[in-house]
Amino acid sequence: MPSLVVLRIDNMPAGNSTRAWQPEMVDELEKRWSRTLSWEEYSPLCERMTELRTQLRRERGVKGPRMFCRHCNEVHEMELGPVTIRSVLFALKKRGLLTEAELNAMDVEWRRYRSKHRLDGGGRRRVEQIAAANSHSPSSLESRDEN
Ligand SMILES: [Zn+2]
Repeated sequence: MPSLVVLRIDNMPAGNSTRAWQPEMVDELEKRWSRTLSWEEYSPLCERMTELRTQLRRERGVKGPRMFCRHCNEVHEMELGPVTIRSVLFALKKRGLLTEAELNAMDVEWRRYRSKHRLDGGGRRRVEQIAAANSHSPSSLESRDEN
């Protein structure tokens, strides 16, 4: 039944960051993460996670979600946006490394720090992103649940 297929694609939580995390990424995160990390130190961690995710998805032939593209005005497969600091925090909570209360406190702290320093979801200054942002990926699939 084609209608069911369409419904399923439309309802697909493409931006659901936890779905985009492969178990190996969380293992790697657990090895590299510590409670004493500064927000600056989360940026290379995010970049490493994005790199690892790209590698694992390629190895496994995982396709990106099909979404409406504002550049082409049509639906096609999208690359996932880079792993965000917020997504890292939720992954840490899921692994049991942060409690619910710690996650909430860090989430608030990160949001304040981010807006104060005008950073993107990965903790980099927005101006540095402009050159890299000229791609076919949506602004950031992973930050759809943010703000
Ligand atoms: Zn496009």
